[in-house]
Amino acid sequence: MEFNLVTYLQSCTMILQANKDLNYLNFIYYSHIPTALVSFLFGFFIFFHSRRNRASQLFFLISVLFSFWSLFDIFLWTSVDSRATIFFWSIINLTENLVTVLTAYFAFVFIEKKDISFKVKILFSSLFLPYVVLLPTAFNIAGFNTVSCEAEQGVMVNYFYVLEILFFTVTLAYLIKKVVQVKRGNREQIVLFSIGILLFLVSFSGVNIAGSLAAIVNPENPDNWKILQYGLFGMPVFTGFLAYLIVRYEAFNIKLLAAQALVVALVALIASQFFFIQNTTNKVLTGLTLVASAFFGWILINSVRKEIVRKDQLQKISNSLAMANERLKELDNTKSEFISIASHQLRTPLTAIKGYLSLVLEGSYGPVSAEVHDVLEKINAANGNLIKLVEDLLNVSRIETGRVQYRFEPVRLETLVKDVTDMFLPLAKDHGLELDIHLPRKPLSELNLDAARIREAVANLIDNAIKYTQKGGVTVSVESNSSVARVIVSDTGIGIREDERENLFRKFVRSEESTKVSVAGTGLGLYVGKNFVEAHGGRIWAESDGFKKGSRFIIELPFRNPKLVNDRAMR
Ligand code: ADP
Repeated sequence: MEFNLVTYLQSCTMILQANKDLNYLNFIYYSHIPTALVSFLFGFFIFFHSRRNRASQLFFLISVLFSFWSLFDIFLWTSVDSRATIFFWSIINLTENLVTVLTAYFAFVFIEKKDISFKVKILFSSLFLPYVVLLPTAFNIAGFNTVSCEAEQGVMVNYFYVLEILFFTVTLAYLIKKVVQVKRGNREQIVLFSIGILLFLVSFSGVNIAGSLAAIVNPENPDNWKILQYGLFGMPVFTGFLAYLIVRYEAFNIKLLAAQALVVALVALIASQFFFIQNTTNKVLTGLTLVASAFFGWILINSVRKEIVRKDQLQKISNSLAMANERLKELDNTKSEFISIASHQLRTPLTAIKGYLSLVLEGSYGPVSAEVHDVLEKINAANGNLIKLVEDLLNVSRIETGRVQYRFEPVRLETLVKDVTDMFLPLAKDHGLELDIHLPRKPLSELNLDAARIREAVANLIDNAIKYTQKGGVTVSVESNSSVARVIVSDTGIGIREDERENLFRKFVRSEESTKVSVAGTGLGLYVGKNFVEAHGGRIWAESDGFKKGSRFIIELPFRNPKLVNDRAMR
């Protein structure tokens, strides 16, 4: 192909500089160079942060292509070498079409969070085939116009406009469809993103098309070319906006980005000083400042990154703990259900055994020899332990499923405590222990209690005191002041270590020492007792002077049960 080549277009430069109303070259540089640079930086920044994210890869590609496009455009407007002008004219339309099609691709990937299908990729790529075939021919660039100092475009330019309008329309239609369809959840994200993409496209190819159309309509107007330049000024803003949206919605870490941006800006600012300073001392000082800022900046970025990694790890651990906790709760509920059913089934036969055993022991089925009597007593005791265990399990499952029903009635606490203590006299005697009771001389006012539950709580304390005391005795006392009454069960037994004291009221917890002294124990009695007492608005706690120094367990019950008072007030 033969072009009318002019290798040094001094005349062109002169024409352009002389004819335009403002300094032509400066204007071109201002509209292109910062735009290309800023867009590239945005693209690079995003890519640097999330190399594997398809949306960031596309955004980076777009920004790189756009930067190239800007540079090509500078050359074809400013070059004084017609060969360069023709070369850049020949590839600029292809670059522009590529930016627009990639923008459509990017919009899809960002919104759908998935890649497009292979077929669509092939379809869109095949639209570029004519470029590949016709790029170096006269269909693309027909020649060089020495009067206007521009390349003359061939028929391919029409194809360029068709593609440009096609991609623009496809993107627009897709975004409108998405905005209309979107549900409430990520509406804001899609609307903002659509606005960003549209502004980007309008600023880039829309303005370009408008400029070209204006030139067709009114070729004489010297300002046609300016429309395109003004569009370019919007580009860094819109690329920045898109970059911001990616950062915001693709879960980038803002803290890290901010630290990096700060360091880059600082270093760039210090480096820019080199353009102004002349004297050597200042140059050395600025150089040192630059190195120091870069070094400490690097440390800052690294420490922020480390902190983020650590935070992420903690977050992951806490998420998995929360999940495990949920699972445990479910298991716990299932277990409570199971225990409840199993215990109910166990209780009936055990109670029957207890009934028959006492009849046999009483001699209702004829005389029983002393030896057999002894054995039957042991069976009876073991059966009693089993019944207590089943009762405890049933209570735990009732407490945990919120099915304990309380029947409050006026009760004389001293009488209740005396009855329970008397029940344990034979057991204490068997263990060779004293069991004393101290009641107040003046009778207490009645308390509003569920007698059966409080009886159970007190009985467990006395039972424990006997179980965990090998020598000495157990004392049960009742005290009161104007607002509360207390039942205190103290013993001279194994005592409690300070670090174990609080935990004893939790389910299945037993102190280390107690497991050696008594095998028969479940760690449920105190837990059940605590729940019962608290349902009365009371407290239960343990005191001990230490290991082997005896223990005191105290139940405190208010004369006016605050829970009942509240309930009444609500009715
Ligand atoms: P259990 O006695 O069946 O193990 P409890 O819930 O009644 O269950 O008691 C929990 C634990 O508290 C006991 O295993 C024991 O370690 C400790 N404990 C309870 N009472 C006493 C006491 N009087 N002296 C020392 N330790 C006690």
